[in-house]
Amino acid sequence: MIPVNEPVIGARERELVLQCLDTGWISSDGPFVGQFEQRFAQEVGRRHAIAVMNGSAALDAAVAALDLKRGDEVVMPTFTIISCITAVLTAGAVPVPVDCDPVTWNATPEAILAAVTPKTKAIMAVHIYGLPMDMDPILTFAKERGIAVIEDAAEAHGLTYKGRPCGSLGDVSTFSFYPNKHITTGEGGMIVTDSDAIAEKCRSLRNLGFNPKRRFVHDELGWNFRMTNLQAALGLGQIERLSDNIAKKRAMGKRYRELLQGENRLQLPAERSTGAENVYWVFGMVLDDSVPFDAQEMMRRLTECGIGTRPFFWGMHEQPVLRRRGMFQNLSLPVAERIARRGFYVPSGLALTDAQMIEVARAVREALG
Ligand SMILES: *Cc1c(COP(=O)(O)O)cnc(C)c1O
Repeated sequence: MIPVNEPVIGARERELVLQCLDTGWISSDGPFVGQFEQRFAQEVGRRHAIAVMNGSAALDAAVAALDLKRGDEVVMPTFTIISCITAVLTAGAVPVPVDCDPVTWNATPEAILAAVTPKTKAIMAVHIYGLPMDMDPILTFAKERGIAVIEDAAEAHGLTYKGRPCGSLGDVSTFSFYPNKHITTGEGGMIVTDSDAIAEKCRSLRNLGFNPKRRFVHDELGWNFRMTNLQAALGLGQIERLSDNIAKKRAMGKRYRELLQGENRLQLPAERSTGAENVYWVFGMVLDDSVPFDAQEMMRRLTECGIGTRPFFWGMHEQPVLRRRGMFQNLSLPVAERIARRGFYVPSGLALTDAQMIEVARAVREALG
């Protein structure tokens, strides 16, 4: 079986993790957490970085730090992971999902801005599968209107938009270090911002709202979202690999493109979008309408050939759990609905070999019939 993802962990990570074990610094109190935060902030060009236990927690804290009021609206892409909308709902705000572009699979500024109402207090931008959203029109508009921008850069380590790092664009931005991301800490996440107030609030929310002056006296409710020294040790080793990992991902994207050349029953990822070159977080494909079956059947066929796959995101507006709560009843977002049914991605982990890519491409052609 060729797995859909397999991370690469090196000697440096091993050495740093062993240091945690040897010194006994295994909790969040160890020295690597602060070091990783500093190193990461520098990488993304931001003043503050706050390490947390995963990317979903990063979103929860980032959205909570904006102090949204009940009924405030947050415009966001429907085509994303559930963590994005969970964070908005947890904050008591109203999510307003919008459709995505059929080529880049990212929400467009047109769709985002068209959904803004007088109640909109935040926009959540999410960069999807290795290409960024076209941020400038959104940032300009948000600034004029005093609307906050949350940027979910979980899939966008090392990606730039018009020369600026993704993760440097929102009032508050978040990352994930799950093993299928460009760098991993097993589980892990990071919040970055230039705002002292947001950073302070996120640090407090991460640590149960402990009052820094009087421990066990609380002025607000938080969570235990702390990252451990063990995770930070992995992160410090991994961050040295980021540019190599991105180069490898780009080379893999190029190679898959060559191997699947002329296969017009598949839509492949766009190589570039406004101000950006794809980093191929995953190598996604969408079945053309001429293919007489859907992504489920395609993935079944590939599994039979020993190829790991994953389906595309299922739009938030179609989630049974949210529909059952009466949300999005008559909302139709046709592009996201189509690619949720016809899209899937193939192995593209950092440990993938060229021979495996050849095998994947062969199996994809065969599965198409
Ligand atoms: C992976 C991911 C997350 C969540 O990260 P976890 O670390 O798995 O909780 C959030 N947003 C996007 C867009 C992601 O791809």
